[in-house]
Amino acid sequence: MVRWDMEISKDHPRYRSLVTRERMSRLVDEGIVAPTGLIAHGRGEAFDYLLGERTIPVADAAARVAAAHLLEASHPVISVNGNATGLCAEALISLARAIPARMEVNLFHYSTERVERVCRYLEAAGARDLLGRRQESRLDGIASDRARCATEGTYQADVVLIPLEDGDRAGALARAGKVVLAIDLNPLSRTAAESSVAVVDELTRAVPNIERHVNELRDRPEERRALISDFNNARNLERMRKAMCALLEPAPNK
Ligand code: ATP
Repeated sequence: MVRWDMEISKDHPRYRSLVTRERMSRLVDEGIVAPTGLIAHGRGEAFDYLLGERTIPVADAAARVAAAHLLEASHPVISVNGNATGLCAEALISLARAIPARMEVNLFHYSTERVERVCRYLEAAGARDLLGRRQESRLDGIASDRARCATEGTYQADVVLIPLEDGDRAGALARAGKVVLAIDLNPLSRTAAESSVAVVDELTRAVPNIERHVNELRDRPEERRALISDFNNARNLERMRKAMCALLEPAPNK
């Protein structure tokens, strides 16, 4: 196998992005990230440029509503794929503990061997009681292997957090009556549109941010319910699109 390891200088203006790309590409070799996961990651990077690579207040508002849903849930589940594992395993595990919620591995490019690899990677990072090795149930309305899910996980969940999902599964979860919380940098994606709450932010910023909101909202049930009832996903996505367009506008003449 060809190795592409390279030294990245900390002074490089794109240091963080380059380090992440290197890690993701190594995780392809390890069978954690699927090769096409790198393409999905690139699409995310492009949209993050349009946000100025920061969490904007509109995205933060959606993150707070997502946290409110996770605390209000009776059976919350965080669904984790290869990219989410490669990008922020520790932060997802920490969020699951804070809520508390179950974590379930669900892969687009499914094989029992790959599920085992991803589960072991998450367990080495500290995950406990992981779901996904056994997927006895199926969600209606999805053609791919992603229809598989664990009965005591996604199948029975009332609220599902789906970091980096495809639109088919997001839609199927919504039609199954679940509150769907997405993290997706593309405000035009089917996933963002099908969700109850789409947090349009980069995963490694969004997950700790949601955890911060979980901790703040833990003893504030009235605020949680108000946040949920006042939120409109389509309106929030429109604001996100406007914010991205604003960044593309030429700077006013001085
Ligand atoms: P749709 O939801 O319309 O079906 P898709 O499934 O075709 O879209 P993919 O490119 O397969 O989209 O999925 C990747 C999605 O995840 C993209 O929308 C991309 O913007 C988003 N994404 C990729 N990396 C990140 C990241 N680090 N943080 C947040 N979102 C990301």
